[in-house]
Amino acid sequence: MQNNIESLKNEIVKTVKDFNSSGLSITTTGNLSARYEDGFLITPTGVSYNELETEDIVYCETNGNTSDGSLQPSSEWRIHSAIYSSKKEINAVAHVHSPYATGLACAQKSIPAFHYMIALAGGDDIPCSAYATFGSDELSKNIVQSLQNRTACLMANHGQIAIGKDIASAYKLAHEVEALAKWYCISLNAGGPVLLDEEEMKTINKKIKDYGKQFIKK
Ligand code: 13P
Ligand code: ZN
Repeated sequence: MQNNIESLKNEIVKTVKDFNSSGLSITTTGNLSARYEDGFLITPTGVSYNELETEDIVYCETNGNTSDGSLQPSSEWRIHSAIYSSKKEINAVAHVHSPYATGLACAQKSIPAFHYMIALAGGDDIPCSAYATFGSDELSKNIVQSLQNRTACLMANHGQIAIGKDIASAYKLAHEVEALAKWYCISLNAGGPVLLDEEEMKTINKKIKDYGKQFIKK
């Protein structure tokens, strides 16, 4: 178990440092967690990613309790906790203020089916959840609502959330959401996208489930 917790903490630190270097989230914005035992491991609140060390990662119970001597958990621990409680198959949650996704979220715009890769978030759009104050219980409820049949959403006047079976999947999806948000903005600028219809999105949603899986021919 010791190895497991240490390797998860290391992976969290490595990944959030990458948030910074890839431009996905600057300074202390965003947060990352991984399910662990009955709670989750999460980044501490307000610590710059470039100063973050493995021992700074906080174990948080579902009610927000932490052990004596640990740093304060991310102010968004309620979002992470609510997602783990509502989705048993999800083991990692990434929240970032990536530039294009955040720009669209500030306009309270969802991303429609303008590109086939929208299906990577689990359906025909990437919804924008209703606005609530950062760190609030209301915000966590709004996000759980938007993620009902999705693995990513925008957060009104705030940023984006991407979830996955592990840290690598959540992190990869956060990048994909940002790329889609960027392409959508470019397309809006080019006169507005022609949207894919419902039938085509049904085909894509089926097909994308096998994308990236390598079947060895025998
Ligand atoms: P924390 O530093 O508390 O994780 O907050 C960053 C953030 O993005 C709040 O929404
Ligand atoms: Zn945030």
